Amino acid sequence: MNKICLTRHAGVAELVARYLGRADVRGQEIVLYDLNGEVHDTIAVVSHLDADEARRLARKSGLVLYGVVPLHLAALAQLVFAVEWDCAPPRGREMSAEWVRRHGRLVPYVVRPAATCDVCGSVDVESVAEGVQCRACGAYYD
Ligand SMILES: [Zn+2]
Repeated sequence: MNKICLTRHAGVAELVARYLGRADVRGQEIVLYDLNGEVHDTIAVVSHLDADEARRLARKSGLVLYGVVPLHLAALAQLVFAVEWDCAPPRGREMSAEWVRRHGRLVPYVVRPAATCDVCGSVDVESVAEGVQCRACGAYYD
């Protein structure tokens, strides 16, 4: 399983490590320890992940993403731990690491693209006995 923390903010990697427990940030990695204190997994910390790379990693051995993740990448991952704030972020200035620690939390999501009509692209589709029917254009396919 490929695990990647997507963020431009060092405080977010620390938040993820704290959330997961028995983990710390070392350079561009979050290192996870087992009960004996041995390293058992790592999460790469990156500031950018393009969709082709995310797709490749997801196909290879699965993908879990942490951080502030755009939906098109989230949909490629089995699981996303999104960083959310318990109040509005400060306007017009950088979030401090202290602010991130105090107000951030991780919320797990499973994100999937909605089913759409192959013909017109509408999301107004329904599963019927032998396939899918679009209520917008009437197309029917299996
Ligand atoms: Zn349609």
